[in-house]
Amino acid sequence: MPRNRREPEDPDERKRSQGPKAYWDRVDQIAGHFSQIMEVLGLPLDDAHLRDTPDRVGRMYLEIFRGLEEGNEPTFTTFPNEEQYSNMVIVKDIEFYSVCAHHMIPFFGRAHVAYIPDQKIVGLSKIPRVVDFYAHRPQLQERLTEQIIDLLVEKLEPQGAIVVMEARHLCMEMRGVEKPGAYTTTSAIRGCFEDQVVRKEFLDLLMKNSRDR
Ligand SMILES: [Zn+2]
Repeated sequence: MPRNRREPEDPDERKRSQGPKAYWDRVDQIAGHFSQIMEVLGLPLDDAHLRDTPDRVGRMYLEIFRGLEEGNEPTFTTFPNEEQYSNMVIVKDIEFYSVCAHHMIPFFGRAHVAYIPDQKIVGLSKIPRVVDFYAHRPQLQERLTEQIIDLLVEKLEPQGAIVVMEARHLCMEMRGVEKPGAYTTTSAIRGCFEDQVVRKEFLDLLMKNSRDR
């Protein structure tokens, strides 16, 4: 199948496309399969708007599923907690977009992450990158929540950590199983967040922050 080999405009995609030739092989394979799906649906593959769709879908899948690339985890440099800071660190309202592993359509929302440091701390911009990395896979919201907290606990060895995720699932909304706009909430807790008092402090801070918006 002849493929349009324009250089991708997105710098990240360009970098990937210059990587192992496996990139274009994989685009071609996805495109080939996707045109079969389009044929089954009776879509005219010679239509001006559909002609390049299989190829676009191939490149898009490799982009939105880039979190599947082994060894591509975001760098997560920690620093010694020299100030002996031992209060809660919260990063709230981290927007994420993921894809439901059961239906392959999006679910999206916000993640709230907190930890109480022990010997290590991390630059706060790193936490959204962890969320982003694991969200770029076909996912279950529950598994996504666990993968994020597992990485934080592994790298930070904190006194405790919590991840709360709220998301809308288009597989529920578009298929009319549940009412549109419903949020699904998942959470994962480690260490001192098992303690009700600590958890309440987190929830109070989260509520306070949302009231301030
Ligand atoms: Zn689903």
